Amino acid sequence: MSVEWNAHRFSGGALALAAANTVVHRADALKRFDRFDDPNELSRFAAAAAGHCAEEFAGRSIVVSDPPAERMAIVNLREAIDRLFRPVAAGSTAGSDALADLLEASAGAIRASAIDVSAEGATGGAVAGPVPLAAAMAISALTLLRVETLTRIKICPNCGWLFVDRSRNASRLWCDMAVCGNRAKARRHYGKARGREAEA
Ligand SMILES: [Zn+2]
Repeated sequence: MSVEWNAHRFSGGALALAAANTVVHRADALKRFDRFDDPNELSRFAAAAAGHCAEEFAGRSIVVSDPPAERMAIVNLREAIDRLFRPVAAGSTAGSDALADLLEASAGAIRASAIDVSAEGATGGAVAGPVPLAAAMAISALTLLRVETLTRIKICPNCGWLFVDRSRNASRLWCDMAVCGNRAKARRHYGKARGREAEA
C-alpha cells in the first residue's frame, strides 16, 4: 500500500528530519518499518517534499531518477542524519563519528548531484532544474548544524519523530499538535474516565 505523503509526514520542519521520520516506530524492534523499503516511495516522497519543503528549496522540484540504484545511498544518508540529530535532540551528545558519517554521506550525495552551489543555486532561487533527493537531504541536514537550530531539534514524545521547534518561545511539544497532541490528549481523557470508573 502506498503512503500518503501529506503535511503531517513533513512536520519535522526540515527535509532532513522528514526523511529520518520515514522509519516508523524506529525505537521498537517489533513494530519498526521502513517506508523506503519500497523504492517507489522514494520518488513519491521526493515529489511531495518539493511541495512541503518549498521554503527550503525555493519551490524547485526534488527527484530520484533511478530509485532502485539510489536507494542504498539515500538510506545511508538518512540513517547518518538520525544518528547525529537524535542524540542531540535527546539532550545527550553525538560522537564525532556521527558528524563524520553525516559529512561523508552528504559529500557523496552532493558530489553526485552536480547542483549549483552559488548563493542562489544551492537550495533554489535563480538556478532552475531539479535537485536530486539525496543532495536535498544533505543540504537540509547541513543547514541544521548551527547552535541556534540544534537546540531546537526535539523528539516527539508520542511517535518518536524528530522535528525543529520554530515556535517563538521554543515550547512546541509534539511533532504535530493535530495528530500526536490530540492522541495524547485523548489518552489522558480516557485514563481519567477509567480512573473515575475504578473509583465508583
Ligand atoms: Zn509525533
